Amino acid sequence: MVEQVGPEVRGIAKGDFVIAPFIYCDGTCAHCRAGVTSQCVAGAAFGNHGIDGGQGEAVRVPLAGSTLVPVPGSGHSDETMRSLLTLSDVMCTGHHAAVSAGVRSGSVVAVVGDGAVGLCAVLAARRLGAARIIALSRNPVRQQVARSFGATDILDERGDAAIDAVLEMTNGVGVDAALECVGTGQSVATALGIARPGSVVGAVGVPHGVDNPMETVIFRNIGLRGGVAPARAYIPELLDDVLEGRINPGLVFDFETDLDHIEDAYKAMDERRAIKALVRVGR
Ligand SMILES: [Zn+2]
Repeated sequence: MVEQVGPEVRGIAKGDFVIAPFIYCDGTCAHCRAGVTSQCVAGAAFGNHGIDGGQGEAVRVPLAGSTLVPVPGSGHSDETMRSLLTLSDVMCTGHHAAVSAGVRSGSVVAVVGDGAVGLCAVLAARRLGAARIIALSRNPVRQQVARSFGATDILDERGDAAIDAVLEMTNGVGVDAALECVGTGQSVATALGIARPGSVVGAVGVPHGVDNPMETVIFRNIGLRGGVAPARAYIPELLDDVLEGRINPGLVFDFETDLDHIEDAYKAMDERRAIKALVRVGR
């Protein structure tokens, strides 16, 4: 909820109910105009470089007019509010994995990772018309969310066993779109291993300990795209789907607390007791 507006801000007014993507942007530089708002020359992520973090009772938003997206209507249900919250990050990031991998009507998709982003990637793939969605998950709670988001197959294998299983499920071909939503060496290797030649891996997991994939890129004709989701560019289209009830990404929130107990939220996610925690602030 906007409480105050700076003199140079246009398009946002006091009292507006808005969504803030996790990176602010000017909307006018070459990268923003190309749709890559996450690489805005004037932008940065909240919580860095002296800019307020997003988890607080009040946040100053730089470049507010080009960063915030007003949400039409009022009196939204708690269910809708939960889904709107995912548009600030995880739903847009899952969508980015699917868009980067070129998911389209009829695609055979596999999603590596069953965190909030991976589950949102399942939902995004279904939204884009995927015919078959294989979700890699070993956790019964997450498997259930994946199914409700549109996963047609659940695979509880990892590593080489997962690669073998996906190849078997696809007559040895591999998937049209592998969505990498973890970022570990094993998960990236899995995504590259199940991608069919000529396809593109949509990679959005923050990488740590990942081998250089160039040999796969060259010798198996696998592309690699993704990166930091340009959430600001995606919010408007996804917002319509949330408000119309076509998607319900808020189901990823299965833990709730307040600012005084925010450590519990991170602990629950770290210990995989929670998929994603929702923190209630203010009134
Ligand atoms: Zn920009």
